[in-house]
Amino acid sequence: MAQPNPQTNGPAETESLGAQLAARLDDGDIVLVRGELGAGKTTLVRGAARALGVEDPVTSPTFSIGHRYRGERVTISHLDLYRLAGVELEPDPGLLDDYLGPGRIAFVEWPEDGIPELAGACLSVTLSHRGGDRREVEIVELAVSGTGGGQR
Ligand code: ADP
Ligand code: MG
Repeated sequence: MAQPNPQTNGPAETESLGAQLAARLDDGDIVLVRGELGAGKTTLVRGAARALGVEDPVTSPTFSIGHRYRGERVTISHLDLYRLAGVELEPDPGLLDDYLGPGRIAFVEWPEDGIPELAGACLSVTLSHRGGDRREVEIVELAVSGTGGGQR
């Protein structure tokens, strides 16, 4: 039987949920983090990053598409692609290269459809407002797509 989606009642609980998720992640993993503005995406990433050993403050990327933090075992990448969404971009295949791949675990807010580098994401997390400080968090394991190149 399907489990109901977890709900959190404040930022601390969302951080804890992020920490629980972090325990499931391996080197090279990509997590897509969706939800409206203020839903708690960055809060969840903060909790996950802490659990992965990041000591620096985890804040929303403002002047770039992402931040990279030193974690205990790997680099933690935190991308926010909000400003890419809907923008007619010159195809720049290398844009995300510094953030993804071996030696890194990446969390991607506003993952636009059709970014080929994100096709191998392992988890999709969607946060939704449920009134006040309550949030519902849907966690979906993604089938690894692509050509079966044995990434995992
Ligand atoms: P996003 O990255 O989705 O825009 P943030 O994590 O930056 O969202 O901000 C979420 C805001 O909502 C923060 O101010 C946080 O304190 C507040 N908040 C209230 N309740 C929750 C909750 N249950 N989970 C996460 N954030 C919450
Ligand atoms: Mg955010």
